[in-house]
Amino acid sequence: MTATKKDFKVIYDKFSAPIAKKLDCGRICAPLNDGIPVCCSTENAIPIVEDEEWKLLNSRTDLWKPFKPFDKASKKIVKELAKTTCAIECKGVAFCERDNRSLACRSFPYFPYFTKEGELIGLAAYWTFEDRCWVISNVEVADKKFVSEMIEAYEYLFDVDEEQYEAYYEESATMRRVFSKRNEPIQIIGCGMKYFFVLPKSGGRVIPTEKSAFRPVKPFTSDKVYKKAIKEAGGDPTGHSLPR
Ligand code: SF4
Ligand code: SF4
Repeated sequence: MTATKKDFKVIYDKFSAPIAKKLDCGRICAPLNDGIPVCCSTENAIPIVEDEEWKLLNSRTDLWKPFKPFDKASKKIVKELAKTTCAIECKGVAFCERDNRSLACRSFPYFPYFTKEGELIGLAAYWTFEDRCWVISNVEVADKKFVSEMIEAYEYLFDVDEEQYEAYYEESATMRRVFSKRNEPIQIIGCGMKYFFVLPKSGGRVIPTEKSAFRPVKPFTSDKVYKKAIKEAGGDPTGHSLPR
């Protein structure tokens, strides 16, 4: 059983909250990416949707179109896509329609984290973008509304689509392997706004913690490091600083 167009409509209705009220995190990462928010540029992240989700988006808006690969790497990504998915791209951040964002747009940079035992305990963040996405360095900024809506939406998705459950179970296992190698804990915002660490090299042991224990990574560790990174990315750091 896989999710249908109708299911994605239910999911969109359940999950529309921004990560946090009054947070425009695109202003923090854009200077590192030629002025475009990192998660809204296909140079960094190519939106992949299920065919059924694409049908829904296509019926609601002309914001999206099929993605055209532009180099060797993007050709490889498209070639290796699962048969039930497709790569798409939007018209760009200036034309964004909040109600017609894909599920991936609504969720980024978070994904549902499963323990080794298969329990959904909360949200982790895709670590591969940690050098560009400020939210990954500050996962605790997410509001209660965002966390609860996202978890509820994905619980619905997993109920109707076993393959989605398997994909996120695998992603969680991959993250444990990567963070064990790094010897760092995984930071999780749990259901009910609890905060957890998944300890490295522990077989996935989860312990409660405080949000003040969460730590940023470079280049979001200080204004000095952030400004240096903007410069290295070819941008102008003047007037840019990290939120206090
Ligand atoms: S979620 Fe991350 S990558 Fe996307 S706009 Fe916010 S800081 Fe930038
Ligand atoms: S639809 Fe909006 S949030 Fe999604 S990639 Fe486009 S500009 Fe970004």
